[in-house]
Amino acid sequence: EVGVLAVVGRPNVGKSTLVNRILGRRAAVVEDTPGVTRDRVSYDAEWTGTDFKLVDTGGWEADVEGIDSAIASQAQIAVELADAVIFVVDGQVGLTATDERIVKMLRSSGKPVIVAVNKIDDRISEYAAAEFWKLGLGEPHAISAMHGRGVGDLLDDALDAL
Ligand code: GDP
Ligand code: MG
Repeated sequence: EVGVLAVVGRPNVGKSTLVNRILGRRAAVVEDTPGVTRDRVSYDAEWTGTDFKLVDTGGWEADVEGIDSAIASQAQIAVELADAVIFVVDGQVGLTATDERIVKMLRSSGKPVIVAVNKIDDRISEYAAAEFWKLGLGEPHAISAMHGRGVGDLLDDALDAL
């Protein structure tokens, strides 16, 4: 039985782009605008000889109804079924209140969480990842899902947690 790695985070942070980068093909749908998709899609993946399941999730927006509505969402189910979670945040936007709410839920899930600070497209932007230390989830991994920067190191750590 292979491990399950779920990719969660706010809409538009680059979850599907990261999934495609890991899969090495364009399987997950990438959108320019925050979507209303709440789907949960599972892919067979492989990394340096390790087979695993990679689960892309739709947006996890804590809306006016608050986190309660998210509890019923596909992202919630994905976390429950996962062995480890990649929590994607947007390094260009910085830490948001919604990120913090998601972290509370992730922490209560008890699952290992690896923080991916996405959209760090060049070395000069790497400082932006440091802010996410305050989430208390360990080292924030600066990545660019679009260009592939840092994704290998991120996956090495994520698969170690499986
Ligand atoms: P999702 O809603 O979290 O699945 O986000 P998507 O993967 O659909 O990406 C949302 C937008 O962010 C798209 O316009 C992507 O091209 C863009 N994006 C994703 N990853 C990166 C990245 O590493 N750098 C930059 N600059 N943009 C990115
Ligand atoms: Mg997506």
